[in-house]
Amino acid sequence: MDQFKSMTEFQFPFQSTYTELPEVFFSKLSPTPVADPDIVIFNQKLADEIGLDLSQINEEEKTNFFSGNLLPKGGKPFAQAYAGHQFGNFTMLGDGRALMLGEHLTPSGQRLDFQFKGSGRTPYSRGGDGRAALGPMLREYVISEAMHNLGIPTTRSLAVVSTGEKVYRENELPGAILTRIAASHIRVGTFEFASLHEDKAILQSLLDYLIKRHFPGIKEMSNQPLALLEAVIEQQADLISQWMRVGFIHGVMNTDNMALSGETIDYGPCAFMDLFAPDTVFSSIDQKGRYAYANQPYIAQWNVARLAESLLPLMHSKREEAIEMAEDSLNAFEEIYKNKWLSMMGSKLGLAKTSAGDENLVTELLDIMHQNGSDYTNTFRDLSKPELPNEKIFTSEKFRSWHTRWKERLGKEKNGLESSFARMRSVNPAVIPRNHRVEEALEAGEKGDLDPLSSLLKAIENPYQDGDHLMPYQSPPEPSEKVYQTFCGT
Ligand code: AMP
Ligand code: MG
Repeated sequence: MDQFKSMTEFQFPFQSTYTELPEVFFSKLSPTPVADPDIVIFNQKLADEIGLDLSQINEEEKTNFFSGNLLPKGGKPFAQAYAGHQFGNFTMLGDGRALMLGEHLTPSGQRLDFQFKGSGRTPYSRGGDGRAALGPMLREYVISEAMHNLGIPTTRSLAVVSTGEKVYRENELPGAILTRIAASHIRVGTFEFASLHEDKAILQSLLDYLIKRHFPGIKEMSNQPLALLEAVIEQQADLISQWMRVGFIHGVMNTDNMALSGETIDYGPCAFMDLFAPDTVFSSIDQKGRYAYANQPYIAQWNVARLAESLLPLMHSKREEAIEMAEDSLNAFEEIYKNKWLSMMGSKLGLAKTSAGDENLVTELLDIMHQNGSDYTNTFRDLSKPELPNEKIFTSEKFRSWHTRWKERLGKEKNGLESSFARMRSVNPAVIPRNHRVEEALEAGEKGDLDPLSSLLKAIENPYQDGDHLMPYQSPPEPSEKVYQTFCGT
């Protein structure tokens, strides 16, 4: 590794509590240096937010740092081991192209993982090259930042550096490294990996670590694995209902892509839905629609069931009893989700609190939107405008009748119409990163033109605020602009 500069004065106070776990959970190794790094985008706002002090290094050193060419003194990077169900099939995985630099403590004491994605091969790379292409890393940057701005728990993106090297997929593509900031990277698949060892101590150590880091309240509970399962059910039901609110489709909800921090993680072939259609799929590798928009809650429940299976040995010494306990909790997922979904959809319609009768109001509107091929984002945003714009859906008979009933229902809200409309504007975005705009920005970015990317990032900065500058980003794609498929680009 003679490309590493020896910079004895460069220190970074990374911690690595994760490496106190049994050694099966990680492999220590350094990033593979790259030929000619260049910072494509750096998230200064995030750096400030998390109290990252880079004042001791100059621009060149910063570029080298974020490309893995310059390691801070005392840094002990490592790759994490995990397994997972991919499209329903169990596989051994692990960070095949990612490396944890360590944990960063923010000024307020929050512990955050600092991870490179695309930093070279690891013991878990299988046949892969350990590298990432610029387009998909920019996609993760844009979408994760958009999710954050939309108020949805997510990993963040700190930097994208081009490597000056090519990666070979279907085509030759420019290589890149993304720096990801996350509450942690413990996945459902990490527990699947732990349970494979059939060693309670290994499993227990991961559970203890997760509880300490994310669920400190569970420490006091008598059945901690069961309490954890219930907390994760609550957390994932919450997260998915937020995805459904903004029309987000993750695209690869494999168990290794479900983080137990409750953050959205691993932005591959993800996209936001334009026209409302429950069966919308973008991912080129999801041919059966397993991860379609409306399937996401069922898949979350399926994934959480894999977590439950992994935890069984810790729940009860008798397997049958453990299964019964886990099943009772898992069976509650549906109702927990449904209640969260209804209250979220109610808020999209300006309702402070929903009751059973409101469900029809929600599903009927969604049906009318589906029949009319209406835009999911714009239709909800338009409903809170003083006058409905001239859209096909608003002239239909069915909609008019629905609209009258909705207005009647709003009339029963205690705080008046303006308060309902304000609620609607706070949950129905005025703008989302539409797929055709994202693709356009990535395509230009790959060719070295970063202007479309900057404008897109600017447009999604305050997604609940109207503004003339949003106009080019608010229309669904014209038929010629439509992007039907997104690719992982791994
Ligand atoms: P993903 O679809 O990004 O969640 O990746 C699934 C698994 O494949 C993870 O274990 C990744 O680390 C691994 N992987 C993806 N791309 C590569 C690559 N280019 N080289 C090595 N491993 C990879
Ligand atoms: Mg993944």
